[in-house]
Amino acid sequence: MIRNVRNLILFACAFFCIMIFGMQDNAYAVEHYDLTRNGGSWTGYYYFLDGKVMKNCFFTDGTNTYYLMHNGMPMKDRLTYHPDGQHVIYFDKNGHELFNEFTHVTTNISGQRVDDYCYFDVHGYMYVDKLTYDRSGTNLYYINPYGRMERYGLFTFSDGARGFAKNTGDLVRDTFYTVNGNMYYFHGTGHCAQGLITDGCWYYNYDINGKYLGKFVKQNTVIFLDPGHDSTHTGASAGGLREEILNLKIATYCKAELEKYNGVTVYLARNEACPYPGTTAIEDIQCRINAANSVGAKAYISLHINSGGGGENGAEVYYQNSSWKPGIATTSQILANNIQNNLVSAGIGNRGIKIRNSTPDAADRYYPDGSLSDYYAVNHRGKTAGLPAIIVEHCFISSAYDRNNFLSNENSLMRMGVADARGIAETFGLSR
Ligand SMILES: [Zn+2]
Repeated sequence: MIRNVRNLILFACAFFCIMIFGMQDNAYAVEHYDLTRNGGSWTGYYYFLDGKVMKNCFFTDGTNTYYLMHNGMPMKDRLTYHPDGQHVIYFDKNGHELFNEFTHVTTNISGQRVDDYCYFDVHGYMYVDKLTYDRSGTNLYYINPYGRMERYGLFTFSDGARGFAKNTGDLVRDTFYTVNGNMYYFHGTGHCAQGLITDGCWYYNYDINGKYLGKFVKQNTVIFLDPGHDSTHTGASAGGLREEILNLKIATYCKAELEKYNGVTVYLARNEACPYPGTTAIEDIQCRINAANSVGAKAYISLHINSGGGGENGAEVYYQNSSWKPGIATTSQILANNIQNNLVSAGIGNRGIKIRNSTPDAADRYYPDGSLSDYYAVNHRGKTAGLPAIIVEHCFISSAYDRNNFLSNENSLMRMGVADARGIAETFGLSR
């Protein structure tokens, strides 16, 4: 705090100087000598031309540019005004004028000690009130109207919007970010959001100072599809087919079909890669449910292929029991029923829709109200998170009949994805 106040005062001084001396009519002519063009000799301290020590002039030795002061020596480690009376330039500890780079400035224009980063352009002119990227184009910095790079937290752009600079100066961008209990959203330019912004699921409301006022649901249905398992949490396999690969294909077809409807946003929990490496199967599911909640999903549909040892075939869908949060269970049951009907219409055997309650030995056998919990993590944890969450077992990978008829060609996988999409659209009243 004390440091900030000090810097503010120093820069207020600097700014005041610019106000007084930085006018166009304060410009004055200064000679500019070049060793190769003008000849003479350069000792590293003095420039001799025609036997005289040159003073009050710019001098280029072929590599670097210096300002030779009234005593003939190079100005060093100083911010100073260009003779144009408008721009501020900088000579480093070696007396070299700085071009096209950031530098740490330790002495300000009034000769006082500071700890600032400033940027000088290709002409050597100090940036003021500008956004600039680092050389890699990754980090964005803001150079304030006093020529200082903003660091150490919240600041105000010259247009009045708030920004947040990390200690290194790079701006927080394209993200929600909580500072002192207020959730800001910083755009790609580092400016905080003002008014309404949306992530596709919610509107977030901000006042003109970036103060967060609240959020409300965008009139849009968000569907979260979970292609069950992944490359490290593998599913069932048989006949050269792998469940996790088929699940992703069906989910991808389902997403493409759903997106033909109006007012719907569809998320997939994963692509080919494992989204949460190093987690247990249950933790992996919990992470996916958290992701669904974070995007405001209306439903969580986990897509699977069954496996069994008794020659079974056909589709079945597990929905949530009604012992706790019965409203969620109702949506879950309707969704399960609609998807099952569409799968059966696609020619898959009908094993019905089901609930499965937790077993007596389960550690989490009861919901918080003491009622019997759902057995499957998707159903159980989905309900805990407030989501209608179902498991669609499209058919059996262990069945040669189901493999041959439904799993071994893209067209059949697409038909299952389309059936899922129709069931979802019917449940949420989507139209196209
Ligand atoms: Zn599975």
